[in-house]
Amino acid sequence: MSGLLAGFIAANAASPLRANTKSEEINRSKANGNLPKTIAIIGAGVAGLTAAYRAAQAGHRVCVFETANRYGGRSLTLRPDDKDYKNWWFDTYNPAREFEAMYVSSFEEREDSPGRGKQACHFHVPAWKKSGRPEELYLNAGPGRIPSHHTHLLSLCKELNVELEPYVFKSDSNLLSDSSFRGGEPIQWRQVHYSLIGQIASIVYQAYKDGVILQGYENVPLMLKALGNLNEKFKFEGSSAVGFVRAPGGWQDPSQLKTPLKLEELLSSNLVLSEQHGTESMESHEDYIDWQPTLLQPTGGMDRIWQALLLSEIPKTAQASQFKRSTRSLERGKLLLGDIVKLNAKITGIYANRNSCTIRLNNKSYTFDACIVTAAPPLLGKRNRMKTSTKEIAFPSDLLIDNNLDESTKKALSEVKMTPACKVGFQGKSRFWEEENQIYGGISWTTDLSSQLWYPSSGFHSSTGILTGLYNRHESAIYTSQKSLPERIEIALKGCESLHPGFKSKVYKDFAPAIAWGYMPGQIAGWADETSELQCNIYLKITDALTPNIFFAGDSYSQTPGWQEGAIRTAALAVRAISDGLKPNDPRLYGTNDVMECP
Ligand SMILES: Cc1cc2nc3c(=O)[nH]c(=O)nc-3n(C[C@H](O)[C@H](O)[C@H](O)COP(=O)(O)OP(=O)(O)OC[C@H]3O[C@@H](n4cnc5c(N)ncnc54)[C@H](O)[C@@H]3O)c2cc1C
Repeated sequence: MSGLLAGFIAANAASPLRANTKSEEINRSKANGNLPKTIAIIGAGVAGLTAAYRAAQAGHRVCVFETANRYGGRSLTLRPDDKDYKNWWFDTYNPAREFEAMYVSSFEEREDSPGRGKQACHFHVPAWKKSGRPEELYLNAGPGRIPSHHTHLLSLCKELNVELEPYVFKSDSNLLSDSSFRGGEPIQWRQVHYSLIGQIASIVYQAYKDGVILQGYENVPLMLKALGNLNEKFKFEGSSAVGFVRAPGGWQDPSQLKTPLKLEELLSSNLVLSEQHGTESMESHEDYIDWQPTLLQPTGGMDRIWQALLLSEIPKTAQASQFKRSTRSLERGKLLLGDIVKLNAKITGIYANRNSCTIRLNNKSYTFDACIVTAAPPLLGKRNRMKTSTKEIAFPSDLLIDNNLDESTKKALSEVKMTPACKVGFQGKSRFWEEENQIYGGISWTTDLSSQLWYPSSGFHSSTGILTGLYNRHESAIYTSQKSLPERIEIALKGCESLHPGFKSKVYKDFAPAIAWGYMPGQIAGWADETSELQCNIYLKITDALTPNIFFAGDSYSQTPGWQEGAIRTAALAVRAISDGLKPNDPRLYGTNDVMECP
């Protein structure tokens, strides 16, 4: 999720970059042999629901158990707690009102959270004509964007007819506020970036001319001229790319360019240096492949993906015989994926047997041929503590799922480092960021605790919009999580003020959802750190599945933690492994002879 993952270059070279190619081969596995298997899936997040969908398609009998009272896991989209809006939403997207818990307008963190208490989304819904559409208001409290190279997820969206639109990760008008640069004065990204590369290009040209470097590459000067917007003398004297004090006018109204920021000033700030600001320079976030300037998002909210899964028709034979078919599905005459999902179903134990696995639910045992677990790795570990990059954090012991996993696997699951994450949403009284700052989407960054401010990538020029006013990770998220709801909102407001002075008066203050993922039911953090890269031996251990008939799926068990791509890729692999009787380290699962090894 940090976007810094270097990855396994050799392995990735073979991976598909075209939607609907290899991903389909992996996704669509047919049950092998004569007997379909019975499969219990723990967790109704994106991984659990995708695994259920693929398993049902492959001819297996499936049941999904979810401890929370809602679907989607970390893919949580919050919508207005407004009766008329909710009715419009269902009439438009789900007229049969199947699985009503798919519309989420309130949530509650766990009892042990300093931010406990019901948070109902009192977004202000502007009046709309009954014949028309209201402005769609939602906050993606978990995932919000999809990079173009996440081909398995994009294929799934295509298959399920989930409409996509651009997600703007970076617009040149986005703001950067660094407390060590001019007292935190917000500066446009374009000022920082183009001032930087202009001056660097000019310096490199001088070095080239002096014969210090790059002799022999005769086209370098021309390249530098284009790269840095240099003048005829290969000097940088500013350019329109840095921005205008006054934009070009109509008649006798000339433009005035902004003065470039001085290189010396930039080089003593967090704006362009990676070391001082964690591992990321504020100016170069967009250089990470996961954070390309334009990404994608499902139109109307990230939950549209799992909602489409829930509403998908699956073979009637997919109903696991351990449980009765719901009256609703019998009346309907069709089985939908949502019919095989049980909410408020907390699995307290999972045990491998020689040819099967047994789960414990409400003090009863149920046996299936195989189980797929999507809960966070430390929940299957040895103790109620998890590691983060800076410290260990305890979580309530009743979240642990008792099990008879191989001891070394259990130990590795406990060792997986997790990344805490928080988000806070605000509703604008107007779209002041468009009117005052010419910002149409993207993210502004601050060295303040709140870290990020996301602007909506759609609904331009409408009357309001939902902002993500705080999105922090690691230590800042641990700090924010431990605060009460009003304190978390204050932290977010302070950070937003550093970017937009007067922010407080421009948003509705009566309701701002504040989510600390570590305290959400069924969760202990945002996601796992890059385990495959940073804890390679642990990663191999947790994906080896030494214990028969129990498989792990979910982004935290994948090489793309913090991304749904990892969730659905592992889900599809788990189903394929069960169908074909393969172990996770079997190269046949990957269509390659490369075997992952740690350095
Ligand atoms: C703040 C944030 C931002 C993110 N941004 C992005 C993004 O922009 N793009 C992107 O693609 N991804 C993003 N992600 C990651 C994305 O949310 C995950 O990859 C995806 O939702 C993971 O799905 P999952 O099914 O693996 O896990 P989860 O969604 O966590 O599902 C696991 C489920 O297991 C349940 N469970 C746990 N214990 C039990 C039990 N004992 N019994 C029954 N059920 C249990 C949990 O309640 C949960 O519902 C983000 C995540 C967060 C938190």
